[in-house]
Amino acid sequence: MKVRQGTLDQARSLLASFDPDGLKDAGLLPRNDLFFPSIYYPPLTQYPERDDSILDGLEWMNRDRFILYVHIPQCPSRCNYCHWVVSLQNSPAEMDAYLDRLEVEMDRWKSRLGGGRFAPRSILIGGGTPTLLPPKQMRRFLEMLTSRFELADCRQFSVEAEPATLLGADGAERLKLLSSFGVDRISMGVQSLDDGVLERMGRPHDARQALDAIEAIKTAGIGSLSIDLIYGFPGCTAETWAVALESALATGIDAYQLYRLRIVPHGDKVGPVKVQYERQPEAFPSLADVYLMKALGKVVSEARGFKENFRRIYSRGPSHISYYLRDYGCRLYDVLGIGISSWSNLGDRTVLNTGSTLKRYYSMIDDGRLPIDRGLIQTREDRQRKSAVLPIKTYGISKERYRQFCGSEFRDVYGERVRELERFGLVEESDLCVSLTERGGFFADEVAMQFYDPARLPFGKNSYADGPLNPHRAVSNRLVVG
Ligand code: SF4
Repeated sequence: MKVRQGTLDQARSLLASFDPDGLKDAGLLPRNDLFFPSIYYPPLTQYPERDDSILDGLEWMNRDRFILYVHIPQCPSRCNYCHWVVSLQNSPAEMDAYLDRLEVEMDRWKSRLGGGRFAPRSILIGGGTPTLLPPKQMRRFLEMLTSRFELADCRQFSVEAEPATLLGADGAERLKLLSSFGVDRISMGVQSLDDGVLERMGRPHDARQALDAIEAIKTAGIGSLSIDLIYGFPGCTAETWAVALESALATGIDAYQLYRLRIVPHGDKVGPVKVQYERQPEAFPSLADVYLMKALGKVVSEARGFKENFRRIYSRGPSHISYYLRDYGCRLYDVLGIGISSWSNLGDRTVLNTGSTLKRYYSMIDDGRLPIDRGLIQTREDRQRKSAVLPIKTYGISKERYRQFCGSEFRDVYGERVRELERFGLVEESDLCVSLTERGGFFADEVAMQFYDPARLPFGKNSYADGPLNPHRAVSNRLVVG
């Protein structure tokens, strides 16, 4: 596969128009060239230790308007860039032991939240590698889930997958099961279609298997297929990345999610990539090349008819985006997370299940508790910031939704901040919403940090230039908590 003529030049000129150096001088981008994704607010790493008594007094009324997330931690091996909680104990007996606890946890959550009908608006089964469950355990899991949660109002049932697990007789059986239980979207971790990069990443599949799995998913009739691709890994150049993108978009996928390699973890687990970066930073592409790869994502996607319908998700249409991300990041729905290391947001309670070891998770379940070991009760200020951070990054802030969620006017709280960001061409405002411009969208995670409490930022004040967009200086004195 060849890159279309002029593609690299187009990406270079797009990037030049965004002027990242100017934004570094203004204090928006950190001087250490590192990246921290704005996924959760407050960030997971900042939750204090708490047990399940944090839920005392919670009257949760959203049983028919929430997102259900279930975590399957087993993986065939650990990828080098992985910062997630995974388990390599994956024999059928070990899978069953995990499912035993998951079943108990589902019932315990339902009872703790008042019982009755639980009807999620969307479901995401993530991992780990959920599709590593052998067919027998996969059936058991899907039965336990669908007998406890009603799917009647569920708009998307999505499962994360790894290519090699969807091939062969077992793969075909898994796909048949997923489809028969109502799964209508698969989000598959492909990461690259360059075998050299895949090997350095420690992925358990090669490019051929990824392409075969894409075919298998389409043949199985699963309605929507999204793949994940990572740019910025050692050995990845702008040219090889452009070829990988062209190859991916020439397949039958409906969407892909573009990830910049995360060197700084967003949770507690630290993947081998951080150590590798500290030892050998020169092995990693320069920041200029990383930005060029990101710009290529935009240029190549748009030339192939894929639009950025949701931040970093390029798709053939809005129905192919992740509803988990949309409903949580944009509509601010509650999330009920079940399984080791899962995260839940229920009203003003934000909690994290233990992520240390399976042994600890099992012992907490066997002791009759919910496996929560960290959490916080959000303050009014947390809600005001979260209601700006997540929507501005993902899609745009609806002023009406902000008013409903926070009981105050967005303009009253953030007017000064928005004017400053407008001055740099990063946001635009209408009567109904505030959203990112094309330039702002390119630096969406960093613009979102303009709405953080400085105490919640991942990098210190001196990591940024002393400009008007230094997030420590910009926000600390200007939030009007009405
Ligand atoms: S990156 Fe995904 S597939 Fe790889 S070890 Fe981590 S959770 Fe498993």
